[in-house]
Amino acid sequence: MAELNAALAKLRKTVGPKGWLDSPDAMRPYLEERRGLFESQAAAVVCPANTDEVAAVVKICHQSGIGIVPQGGNTGLCGGAVAADRQILLNLRRMDRIRAVDTANDTITVEAGCLLAEVQRAAEQANRLFPLSIAAEGSCQIGGNLATNAGGHNVLRYGNMRDLTLGVEVVLPDGRIWNGLSALRKDNTGYDLRHLFIGSEGTLGVITAAVLKLFPALRQRVTAFAAVSAPATAMRLLETLQRATGQSVTSFELICRRALDFVFSTIPQTRDPLDTPSSWYLLIEVGTSGDDSGLEAIVENILADALEAGDLADAVLATSDSQRADFWRLRDSIPEAQRKVGASIKHDVSVPLSQVPTFLERATAAVTAVDSRVRVCPFGHVGDGNIHFNLSQPVDMDGQAFIQAWADYNRIVHDIVHELGGSVSAEHGIGQLKIAEMARYKDPVALALMHAIKRALDPDRIMNPGKILPD
Ligand code: FAD
Repeated sequence: MAELNAALAKLRKTVGPKGWLDSPDAMRPYLEERRGLFESQAAAVVCPANTDEVAAVVKICHQSGIGIVPQGGNTGLCGGAVAADRQILLNLRRMDRIRAVDTANDTITVEAGCLLAEVQRAAEQANRLFPLSIAAEGSCQIGGNLATNAGGHNVLRYGNMRDLTLGVEVVLPDGRIWNGLSALRKDNTGYDLRHLFIGSEGTLGVITAAVLKLFPALRQRVTAFAAVSAPATAMRLLETLQRATGQSVTSFELICRRALDFVFSTIPQTRDPLDTPSSWYLLIEVGTSGDDSGLEAIVENILADALEAGDLADAVLATSDSQRADFWRLRDSIPEAQRKVGASIKHDVSVPLSQVPTFLERATAAVTAVDSRVRVCPFGHVGDGNIHFNLSQPVDMDGQAFIQAWADYNRIVHDIVHELGGSVSAEHGIGQLKIAEMARYKDPVALALMHAIKRALDPDRIMNPGKILPD
């Protein structure tokens, strides 16, 4: 204990009073994960002001064997940014500088603590687009986005965080700084180390900065909300839209009616944009950075044909920014609405696009065969094959009793995902929540390689202990 206290005193001195929190009140917002499944017991929350301070903190922890849990905006949903009692939370929020915007190279260099929304804004000010977009963008940090390889609404067109990153700066578990801030699109000088750290959920090092790709700002955007007859019809419509618009679909979200009903009944000032009720809905966005390409007419014609063929029951295009925002609010409010209607068991899964309808059919049948009262509530970035296959508790059941069945429902749903060639974690990562699930389904050789990488970089296992790989 005396050794721990001495190390904590050194850490405190390193970051100064502005970077040190250890009272229960000050630490509280950093300790609670939003879904309430995990809670930290951290010895302190340490907030360094720059990369050198991060390196100094990591060195002290390395010498004293103190576990370090990197933390961004704490919006992750898998228990990844949660610390135990003899560990520290290393929060990057004070490192929020945009270091450089290079429009000739179409890149932006940012510190890990920048909020995603701030990076989007900086890109916009330079007449560019940084396309990563998720409902938590006002609170999540770039470091967290990188560490979880975040996905979101625009992956279909621009890819996930891995695809959007050219270089990273990382403090390694022994305190060395790796300056990998390359702004190159081509560099074949050996192993591409940046990809080790992207998606590593803080288990291999602390990401302190990154060089991200920028894209031309969109000059025209068409947003549609449509009632679609079935998931199979939705996937055919995606194919038609992609062909007709030259792959310009940026978002393609499928939403079940139950999810919308949850939103209408719990989120103020929301309403159904369509008159005709349906079992399934689509939120579609198509965009171009070119001059007026007649995009709206193309989308309108495709939707009109689909209406005539009976594939769509109804559809509306947003005619203003505020109507567009209303459509997205419906989509982005689903997790909050689901929380308000009771306990839920979540599956953030992906399958090949061709298997989306089969997955939805089989998983729904399998879950309701166990208990027909379970309120199946699937929605998600279906253009990427990513479905949040969420289950809400039966109305007449105790929430905790429902949660007890978490592992049983996981088994049913994940077995189907695996059979269809899918992944049990599409975008939220592994954290603590899915360690056993990953170990069950991942190729054993891949798992052995992951353990070997962890041993090579962090032999003392001080970096985010107990996350992704079991101790
Ligand atoms: P945190 O939650 O603080 O940390 C997440 C993990 O990253 C932890 O393991 C932590 O140790 C590690 N980490 C954080 N910062 C660093 C760093 N600097 N260096 C090394 N490791 C670090 N995710 C998606 O992919 N797509 C979505 O559409 C999406 N929608 C969401 C909607 C809502 C309403 C919410 C609450 C979450 C959503 N998420 C989504 C999940 C979450 O927002 C993302 O995973 C986000 O990228 C996490 O960023 P964060 O800064 O909050 O990270």
